[in-house]
Amino acid sequence: MIRILIALLLSTQMAAAQNFSALARVDPSRTAIKSDGETLVIDLGLSQPVPWRIYTLADPMRLVLDFDQVDWSALDTDTINQTEQVTGLRAGQGGDGWSRLVMPLAAPLGVSRAGMRIDDVTGAATLVVSAAPVSAELFAATARAEPGLPARPAVPSAPKEDGPLVVVIDPGHGGIDPGALRDDVVEAELMLQLAREVAEGLNRAGGIRAVLTRDEDIFVPLAARMTIARAAGADLLISLHADALEKDLAQGASVYTLTEEASDGSAQRMAERHGREDLVSGLDLTGQDDRVATVLMELARAETAPASNRFATALVTGMREAGVRLNSRPRREGPLAVLNATDFPSVLLEAGFLSSSEDRSTLRSPAGRAAFVRGITDAVLTWAVEEEMLAPLKRN
Ligand SMILES: [Zn+2]
Repeated sequence: MIRILIALLLSTQMAAAQNFSALARVDPSRTAIKSDGETLVIDLGLSQPVPWRIYTLADPMRLVLDFDQVDWSALDTDTINQTEQVTGLRAGQGGDGWSRLVMPLAAPLGVSRAGMRIDDVTGAATLVVSAAPVSAELFAATARAEPGLPARPAVPSAPKEDGPLVVVIDPGHGGIDPGALRDDVVEAELMLQLAREVAEGLNRAGGIRAVLTRDEDIFVPLAARMTIARAAGADLLISLHADALEKDLAQGASVYTLTEEASDGSAQRMAERHGREDLVSGLDLTGQDDRVATVLMELARAETAPASNRFATALVTGMREAGVRLNSRPRREGPLAVLNATDFPSVLLEAGFLSSSEDRSTLRSPAGRAAFVRGITDAVLTWAVEEEMLAPLKRN
């Protein structure tokens, strides 16, 4: 019975992912821009989830939402523009492949929360954004210059059937969220560099296709990371971080898997830093308000959690054999939101601590990162063969 339920759930999710290639439509009945004079709240109803990003631009000040891609034809921008903070609203297709919603701002605002909720029953998505007043200085510092706008990400249109093993590499943080900072080293930048090198190593290994949740220094909300992973047909997600602790004690790599509770003080700090991420409180991909869906999710998680744990074990072994310096407790657990997916296994790799000068120099050196690439690639290959997701390869 449990197996049938899980199969049903997974096939529903796969169907949703396959519809990804169809154009999403805006739903005006679930779309509104509201304000209490301070906080601006934007609800945007969509027929299905799509990759998206949010940023601000200066001169003139505006808040921009990009989607890949949305049919705006049902949207009457005159009827939903109802606040003094947004002085007009334009929806259209950018020349760069993004569908764009531009909101000119009367005063500087900063995005405080952004998340996409997906209804498990209907598959419809709602993007909820909150923006609050910020100083002109902060707005100028975080607004992105027009020429620096990233190109449209390559998001595959449908999951594979018998294609390569899809490994999603998720470089933590980015854009307005730099993560940990120490000595001019920025966690978001360093993890992007590591992610690109890991992806290259995986793609070279054969039988594996690596997909990045971001390939530039941009803010990608957690829900969008999950949407990208699902759309790519993820078989595995590896989230990359290197945090900093107040005291220069912790060092070495550790691998986290999901639990409801933090297993120790270090896991508690990780959860505090990363559990909330950018999720709008009470909103997440699991549709918690739907009791049936929640039960199904728990059952599905019961399937993916052991696979996550087996990969975490393989990853510790792979890194150790590749010469990566490990934390004294390399296997950890914590309530980390990025590990919340139920339909594919996921782990969070704390590649080291930016608060440790030794970890910092290891992660900044090509040789140090190469050891991670070897360790991760070997772990993925070993794990995938044992899970019978990949045929044993003859490797040199
Ligand atoms: Zn981090």
